[in-house]
Amino acid sequence: MRVLFIGGPGAGKGTQSGRMAHFFGLTHLSSGDLLRKHVAEGTALGQRVKAFMDSGDLVPDQIVMDMLRKPVLAASRGGGYILDGFPRTAEQAHAAYLVASELGVEVQVAVHLRVDHDVLVNRLMSRGRGADDNDRTVIEHRIEVYEQQTTPLVEYYAVREELITIDGGRSVDEVSWDLVSALQARNASLADRASEPAPLPS
Ligand code: AMP
Repeated sequence: MRVLFIGGPGAGKGTQSGRMAHFFGLTHLSSGDLLRKHVAEGTALGQRVKAFMDSGDLVPDQIVMDMLRKPVLAASRGGGYILDGFPRTAEQAHAAYLVASELGVEVQVAVHLRVDHDVLVNRLMSRGRGADDNDRTVIEHRIEVYEQQTTPLVEYYAVREELITIDGGRSVDEVSWDLVSALQARNASLADRASEPAPLPS
């Protein structure tokens, strides 16, 4: 199964996508984690993206797409992936679809972890990242970037009938239980579809 998660900063996307990857035996691919690793290791890519990440802005599409190409292919061959943090914009989704569908590794299920704006702010502040005014400005900016650039993705996947919406405002375990049952149901219908006989030629 090939899945992606959409959720604001603080929505629990990293935690839940990690848990679901473990449960369903899928590879967890977090664009944010991969980018942070490049920054920590001081690679050429890391040096190019650091300023964008520090300010809470998105890094250029091409960098993220190039970085993910190999891991997505490898994960697809190994049973499937959960993408966490990519795509972040409708443009990324469209560009990725064009490349991935050629290779038969396009997304099959999009999960939207829906959490209210105020809850996102409170969660990020209580993670200790809201200690000073600068942190608070970055937090507000990251949420604004999410709301402006990433929420159009919800509509993009809804139209394609690939969307599952989950209330992410509850406890971590409650959200996980809902996710497991929703993804199991979707996985079963994907398996049914795959076993249907091919249509007769007309
Ligand atoms: P995350 O851990 O998903 O919140 O990502 C942390 C930061 O990495 C973001 O604020 C962006 O600067 C960058 N980033 C992660 N994924 C993407 C993406 N798909 N497109 C552009 N920037 C990204």
